[in-house]
Amino acid sequence: MQIEPAFSACPACDLLFRRRPLPHGMAASCPRCGTTLGVGTDDPVSRPLALALASLILFFVVSLEPLLVLRLGDREVPATLFGAVLTLVDAKMYPLAFLVFWTSLLAPLTTLLGLILCLWPLRQGGTSRLGPGFFRIALALLPWALVGIYFLSVLLALFKLKDLAEIHLGAAMVAFAALVVTMTALRGSLHPEPLWERLELLNDLEHPDGLDNLEHPKRP
Ligand SMILES: [Zn+2]
Repeated sequence: MQIEPAFSACPACDLLFRRRPLPHGMAASCPRCGTTLGVGTDDPVSRPLALALASLILFFVVSLEPLLVLRLGDREVPATLFGAVLTLVDAKMYPLAFLVFWTSLLAPLTTLLGLILCLWPLRQGGTSRLGPGFFRIALALLPWALVGIYFLSVLLALFKLKDLAEIHLGAAMVAFAALVVTMTALRGSLHPEPLWERLELLNDLEHPDGLDNLEHPKRP
């Protein structure tokens, strides 16, 4: 689908400018106030989408498989991520239970689903009406998707428990380490400005009347 250029306003000073695709690695800034208006990437969609899909698959492995198996005498206790939340609830440590649930389960899952639901249609050359909403939710929750914190706390617990119980690493531990890597790479590959541009351009094309009221843009 060929996208025609459209006009945008600087988010800081409302100067109108014509949007054009930027070469890879180039940044555009507002000539009046210097606010960064966009960063050029060859393809702002494919890499974050691939990383989000990989993270989602790893996320399900991490959530469902045991991270650790503790052997106390002849009793084996598998420790899953969700089990850890329930253990904290049982111990009446509600704020900590909520923190683990929010940063390790709810925020990452919502972020990944929001990104995939927004980027998948863009990758196919279109967008859904809900695309900007999904993207806004994903961006709002991304800072809370801190799977690395829980990973570190599991490693710390492992170190403390090693004299008390026999500990075996579960299958999910490798997936967890990989998830920390893919989530970090996802943050690095996500450039919101060019993605907003695509979402808004496709929206403008679907509702072209909205462009009639624009003034003629000032040349930088
Ligand atoms: Zn400006």
